[in-house]
Amino acid sequence: MSYSFTPIGVLHSCFSEKFAIPRQPLLAPAATATLELFAPYNQPEALEGLEQVSHLWLLFVFHAADSGPKHLRVRPPRLGGNRRIGVFASRATHRPNPLGQSVVKLEGIVDGKLLLSGIDLLDGTPILDIKPYVPYADSLPEARNALAPAPPPPIKVEWSEAALQQARQHAERLHSDLVALIEQCLAQDPKPAYQQPEPSREYGVRFWDLNVRWHYPSPSCIRVLDVQPAH
Ligand code: SAM
Repeated sequence: MSYSFTPIGVLHSCFSEKFAIPRQPLLAPAATATLELFAPYNQPEALEGLEQVSHLWLLFVFHAADSGPKHLRVRPPRLGGNRRIGVFASRATHRPNPLGQSVVKLEGIVDGKLLLSGIDLLDGTPILDIKPYVPYADSLPEARNALAPAPPPPIKVEWSEAALQQARQHAERLHSDLVALIEQCLAQDPKPAYQQPEPSREYGVRFWDLNVRWHYPSPSCIRVLDVQPAH
């Protein structure tokens, strides 16, 4: 038995690479994207009623996931990257079928495009379906998951004066709350959990068309060094 699916749209997101994308949606409310729908789903009929919905489920393809051999056990970064658990106990991107699902906030609909925030998806992610979030069915206060009981505690993010100025300048051009985006994503501490960061070591990531560089003055603090156009 096999099935094939055709994307209904593609996501244009602030995340130009996988590093530093939050591990789940809504952890970085300033992370935004536009969902471009393909014909015929870009017609107003397909979107009728969505204005009454605040959050959506996106069902998508992990199109940039490692396509190597499939394993029954995975090492989620959340558990430090060296403890293995069953693939079905994890949200790892490397799974039997590279399918993901994320709850995101619907900020608006403009010209048949959905404006979204709180995303955890790479730019270019193919979207297979959209479903409305249904609070009474999808929110379960009694549910538990001892592997991921709470969001990771945020670490402190501070700025060099130059980096803050640069971020503010580019924010206007990109119509993005870039300072909040950088702070919220870096506060998740993107480096591998097992790595002891030397203060002299610099890290970098691309958000939109910008390179953001930082270092760790101490293991529990990030200092943003600069925010420059990527080449
Ligand atoms: N919320 C989704 C889920 O539970 O299915 C995704 C969880 S997954 C752990 C989140 C990570 O997937 C992000 O941190 C990012 O590195 C990675 N990711 C996001 N979009 C991707 C894509 N299109 N292809 C491959 N990896 C992606």
